[in-house]
Amino acid sequence: MLKIYNTLTKKIEEFTPINPPNVGMYICGPTVYDFFHIGNARTFIMADIIRKYLEYKGYNVNYIMNLTDIDDKIIKKSIEEKTLANEVTKKYSDAFFEDIKRLRIKTATVYPKATENINEILKMIKTLVDNGFAYNVDGNIFYKVSSFKDYGKLSGKKIDELESGARVEVMEEKLNPLDFALWKKSKPGEPFWESEWGNGRPGWHIECSVMSCKHLGETFDIHAGGNDLIFPHHENEIAQSEAANKKPFVKYWLHFGFLNINKEKMSKSLGNFFTAREVLEKYSAEAIRLFFAQAHYRGPIDFSDDLLDSAEKGLEKLKNIRSTIESGLNKNNSTGKNPDFNFESFEKRFSDAMDDDFNSSQATAVIFDFVKEVNKTIAVEENLNVNFYIQVRNFLINTANNVLGIMSFEENNVKQSSSIEDELIKVLIEIRLKAKTEKNFPLADEIRKKLDELGITLKDTKEGTDFFKR
Ligand SMILES: [Zn+2]
Repeated sequence: MLKIYNTLTKKIEEFTPINPPNVGMYICGPTVYDFFHIGNARTFIMADIIRKYLEYKGYNVNYIMNLTDIDDKIIKKSIEEKTLANEVTKKYSDAFFEDIKRLRIKTATVYPKATENINEILKMIKTLVDNGFAYNVDGNIFYKVSSFKDYGKLSGKKIDELESGARVEVMEEKLNPLDFALWKKSKPGEPFWESEWGNGRPGWHIECSVMSCKHLGETFDIHAGGNDLIFPHHENEIAQSEAANKKPFVKYWLHFGFLNINKEKMSKSLGNFFTAREVLEKYSAEAIRLFFAQAHYRGPIDFSDDLLDSAEKGLEKLKNIRSTIESGLNKNNSTGKNPDFNFESFEKRFSDAMDDDFNSSQATAVIFDFVKEVNKTIAVEENLNVNFYIQVRNFLINTANNVLGIMSFEENNVKQSSSIEDELIKVLIEIRLKAKTEKNFPLADEIRKKLDELGITLKDTKEGTDFFKR
């Protein structure tokens, strides 16, 4: 039973998706005006592990990550680089896709972009204006925070406390310093879109309300992002979506902890700012993922070369077991012993850990325990059946490779085999067995040969026929 800490209720809750086996999951993606930093990498990697674990449990995850491709920072960068805003976003979104691929992050179902959803954005803004949740000041549209009675329910902040603490250098035209822009009037030379309120561009918060609703529906299962987005970004998303759709927005809110560098906050001015691609020059994707997976996603994490070095060292054990498995498979010993090894108990320990609010730190420990136990078994008995190695490899592929991404197997070993594929092979094995009992040996041989051409070896044993993928 999967349990998740929900930022909205501040409780650990049982995970019950709205429409199982489907799960809708939305992550706030990057503003594509620069390379993303290692703190963002933590969010993207941990969200990837969570998504892959949900898939491991059999859910179909509709995974949506937006790309913010119109924003003040993008316009500023285009002026600095003496280029067009869309050239800035093209350059950095290409870099984003390159980096997430290198970090072994699975591609999202859709990466919607703000600039490709302007009509939908204008439609939601209009609904908010028409229903008294937003107002127009000279072509700027602001959300009226006081009109939404639940404002503050995610962050636990109270409107009056926020008002008294608000900085005074407020845009004068706003009725209240907490009100935020849904539509910004464009200044000369800035990119703009036409609207009934004049030429302008969307504010940042509105795009996530619009694009999550478009791809996941008005109410969906999981919304995740960095801790720093709880307020105001996610608070504002709730205010927009629930006011416009008159329905609860998100069932489970998940937030990732901060990343410090050598116990200091990462910042460009302190000179301790690292992009993910800088870190990837020094360390493998698996080491970076192991480092993140070893800490709980909600807590803060300290990043340092020493810690990354020790993650890289920890990976040695996984690389060694991989060569052991490969040589065991190559021996292809079908008469050796099948040791008494409790694979189920490790599978259970792994899923118990991940079911406990995605405790990847515990799950990682289970992988290392498993490796230790396998090495012990091999040390006691050298003459082991090939089936044992197949099972060892399958466990590691399903957990360390497919969920955590801390281990990589040769491409042809992994095949990301769906369980359907395995079931189909079993059906063919049954047909072959039937052919054999009916003495239809040409058919039996043909099935074996055809599977072999696909890289699937059949192994006849006393207990029946096993298969493994080469
Ligand atoms: Zn967002």
